[in-house]
Amino acid sequence: MEMHLLCIASGRETKKAIHLAREKVAKAINCKAKDIYFTSCGSESDNLAIKGICYKNKQKGNHIITTKIEHPAVLHTCQTLEKQGFEVTYLNVDNNGCISLYELENAIKKNTILISIMSANNEIGTIEPIKEIGQIAKKHNILFHTDSVQAIGNIKIDVEEMNIDLLSMSAHKFYGPKGVGALYVREGIEFEKLQDGGHQERDKRAGTENVAAIVGLGEAIDLAYKDFEGYNEKLKKLREYYISEVEEKIPNVKLNGDRINRLPGNANISFEGLNSEELLFKLDEKGICASGGSACSTGNPSPSHVLMAIGVNSKMAKGAIRVTFGMQNTKEDVDYLIENLIQIVSELRS
Ligand code: PLP
Repeated sequence: MEMHLLCIASGRETKKAIHLAREKVAKAINCKAKDIYFTSCGSESDNLAIKGICYKNKQKGNHIITTKIEHPAVLHTCQTLEKQGFEVTYLNVDNNGCISLYELENAIKKNTILISIMSANNEIGTIEPIKEIGQIAKKHNILFHTDSVQAIGNIKIDVEEMNIDLLSMSAHKFYGPKGVGALYVREGIEFEKLQDGGHQERDKRAGTENVAAIVGLGEAIDLAYKDFEGYNEKLKKLREYYISEVEEKIPNVKLNGDRINRLPGNANISFEGLNSEELLFKLDEKGICASGGSACSTGNPSPSHVLMAIGVNSKMAKGAIRVTFGMQNTKEDVDYLIENLIQIVSELRS
């Protein structure tokens, strides 16, 4: 009997903890707590949003609009849907990685059921005109999903003001634990679940909740927006300093993505004539972590689809590296990085 009571009490505690996390997420993006569904990651949130909406609305139409620069979690989901009879328009972007609102509106057809456009790009950091996309979607009565995996914690997102109907996020991108994500779905929008089983997450995502990770996600999103302005300013300063030093001190480089309208900590630069893998290896030897602008580092030799979409030639795309500044970085870190980059680039070029 005592054991039974204990279990009820701990079950209640768990429910409370999850509810609190849901409220924190809701506060951060200005929605209702009950419109948040916890998932295992950003990819799952994207799949659930896009497939969930398409399967539910297939009688209404079969056309989706997205962009050429989405993360594979969205692109591959769309490709799967194409195999199942859905039609997908992949919008072009300009040289900075920004979509054209004119092209978006022109792509809308009678059978369009969903627009899925990322809030900010993971490789080049470009921020898309989310509010304007939301207005177009609303005007045409089409649902709007945005992959905000890179945006949450880095830019302010208000689902009401921006007319966002569905939004994906992933905790580890804002200093939360790995292996937990969330999906926002506006009240009243129906979507199909992808996983059968129990009644968790209001019957939309079966499976025992990862309670500790969900609590961590809630804490992390709360903290991310507590000193948002200060954090944002700090990252922007580091990024600007890095970009200007590289442009001044290293010849034949090119910044990829929008110079101003980009994620505060993102700097993606191409070093002409170099191979990013070599560059990353040398930086790693100096204790510096960066990423390639292409998928080379994951064993895929083809150049980045994002850099190709913004018109970077394959030679420059091969030599692109992305540096992401974070909360713990200092100006001294940037100086150390630049000092090493100057030396490594000159060695590799000679
Ligand atoms: N979408 C974007 C824009 C991302 O950058 C990522 C991961 O880097 C994902 C989706 C996938 O998120 P997760 O790794 O949590 O599945």
